[in-house]
Amino acid sequence: MKHIYMDYAATTPMLPEVAEAMQPYFSRKYGNPSSIHSMGQESRDAVEQARSQVAALIACRPENVVFTGGGTESDNQAIKGVCLAGRGKRNHIITTAIEHHAVLNTCNYMKGLGFDVTVAPVDSCGMVDPDDIKKAITAKTLLVSVMHANNEVGAIQPIEQIGNITGQAGVYFHVDAVQTAGHLPIDVDSMGIDLLSVSAHKLYGPKGVGMLYVREGTRIAPLLHGGEQENERRAGTENVPGIAGFGKAAEIALAGMGEEAGRLTKYRDRLIDSVMGKVADVYLNGHRTSRLPNNTNFSFDFIEGEAILMYLDAEGICASTGSACSSTSSEPSHVLLALGIPVERARGSVRFSLGRWTSGEDVDKVVEALPRIVEKLRAMSPLVKEKCGWINYL
Ligand code: PLP
Repeated sequence: MKHIYMDYAATTPMLPEVAEAMQPYFSRKYGNPSSIHSMGQESRDAVEQARSQVAALIACRPENVVFTGGGTESDNQAIKGVCLAGRGKRNHIITTAIEHHAVLNTCNYMKGLGFDVTVAPVDSCGMVDPDDIKKAITAKTLLVSVMHANNEVGAIQPIEQIGNITGQAGVYFHVDAVQTAGHLPIDVDSMGIDLLSVSAHKLYGPKGVGMLYVREGTRIAPLLHGGEQENERRAGTENVPGIAGFGKAAEIALAGMGEEAGRLTKYRDRLIDSVMGKVADVYLNGHRTSRLPNNTNFSFDFIEGEAILMYLDAEGICASTGSACSSTSSEPSHVLLALGIPVERARGSVRFSLGRWTSGEDVDKVVEALPRIVEKLRAMSPLVKEKCGWINYL
């Protein structure tokens, strides 16, 4: 069966050009980039070329890029690193209710170490109000961490406005750009960003490699201690094949960014309009326009998202509920709850995230299959709607 993959927000397939760029560094060009001999320098050149390629993606200087083991590590490094280096003087972090667990659980960890954490709310479309961030800043605030776009509902946040606020207040600003880097333009200077997380596998690169942008002058402690790699910011021999692949993926993403975003926005809107038009009691989660070009997220009343996923999967359609990292949890998504969506409705949610190999035919197939599956599941559902809300007859 041919698969229709609509889970690009969870991970993307690696491009053949990326695999090709990685290949020599697995076996033939195996020198350690820290070695002085020519084989070492060959690997060093690959790492430095990739550093320039990923720096171009976010308009920063290559020397401000620290390669990491992925988005989760970048988020941990940013938050723990700044807190550990700055603790004693300031002990307050501000984040938002819709962050990825890589940020939320790291902030919680810092809470256990004595930091105060303010979690800013979002509105019913998943948007952060920059005023809420401004009001939460005190003389004790060290760091604000707000994601560029949400991985579940796709809401794109007013990063530049928040960057202005943190800049004026003299507070570090970390942005989790895992869902946007390579997909939307990013300029760390004009957006007022001090630290920014990127993950290669969300932009058609390999898994297990990412980067953290660190503005010069930022006081940050390393997470890993050992050798002097990455300018003493991340010890350990570099993942040369992964880094080379990340660089190639970044270069390709940057070259085709505008065109691909335009193509996906059309498919996204076609999917949204068709599903909203064909299915009763369906809700679009997230903002209608300030939204990732590839993201759709719907709630279907009276049925469970997992059941929809299983029926879709039986027809070769791969979608998801919640984020990839919490998809095995039976708890409703913390993101949907933060938007004020009732628990029952949050449980009936499905995300379709589009990407490079999504075609118009794929969209049509989902638009045909989804209403049929929803109808079938509703016919079996013990849940019915009454004027005043929900009744469970079981
Ligand atoms: N941040 C966001 C917004 C994400 O969507 C993800 C992955 O889903 C991560 C962080 C974690 O990235 P990684 O899988 O590279 O650890």
